[in-house]
Amino acid sequence: MKIVMLGAPGAGKGTQAQMIADQYKIPHISTGDIFRENVKNGTALGMEAKKYMDQGALVPDELTVRILLDRVARDDCKNGYVLDGFPRTIPQAEVLDKALREIGDKIDYAINVDVPDENIIRRMSGRRACLTCGATFHIEHIPPKQEGICDKCGKELVQREDDKAETVKNRLEVYHKQTQPLIDFYTGQNVLQTVDGTVDMKDVFAAINEILA
Ligand code: AMP
Repeated sequence: MKIVMLGAPGAGKGTQAQMIADQYKIPHISTGDIFRENVKNGTALGMEAKKYMDQGALVPDELTVRILLDRVARDDCKNGYVLDGFPRTIPQAEVLDKALREIGDKIDYAINVDVPDENIIRRMSGRRACLTCGATFHIEHIPPKQEGICDKCGKELVQREDDKAETVKNRLEVYHKQTQPLIDFYTGQNVLQTVDGTVDMKDVFAAINEILA
């Protein structure tokens, strides 16, 4: 089963992707996570990607596509995968489509987790992250026991550069301009399904499960 998650940044598609991955025993592939891991490890790829990520811009298609195609060619993807944060542009979707067609395959479901912009801004500006262990919190929904301190490792929590209000607005603009057209792309392939992403994450997952079952 090959699944693409669509939705604005902060819509909760990463959480849902992980739940799908656990339930269906397929890998959860997040290009954002791959980039962040590389930034953390200071690789050449990470240094290049960081320039774009810090501004809320997209990493160029050429680089992103190469990384994704490498990842889905691995053995653990034989029975499918759930893509989170890829494709983000029509050219990315077309490259993936072509690569799949060449092996007689296709995306089975594109799940659009729908959340209005106002909710996204509220959600993202409250996020806090631990740069040491990677744990994430939310000042309203998942507050750390002690303000500004990571529950897991005791280090300082910060607002990630790409969660700052100005960057979030940029990311939403980029989303509407470059990523939203994918809704039509996958509608045209008869695989698009939309779920309400404003409800409790368990209910979002229940709606997704009904689609996949
Ligand atoms: P995410 O965690 O998916 O929101 O990704 C964080 C950042 O990584 C994005 O704001 C982009 O700068 C970059 N990124 C992740 N996935 C892609 C992609 N498919 N295409 C281009 N840039 C991406």
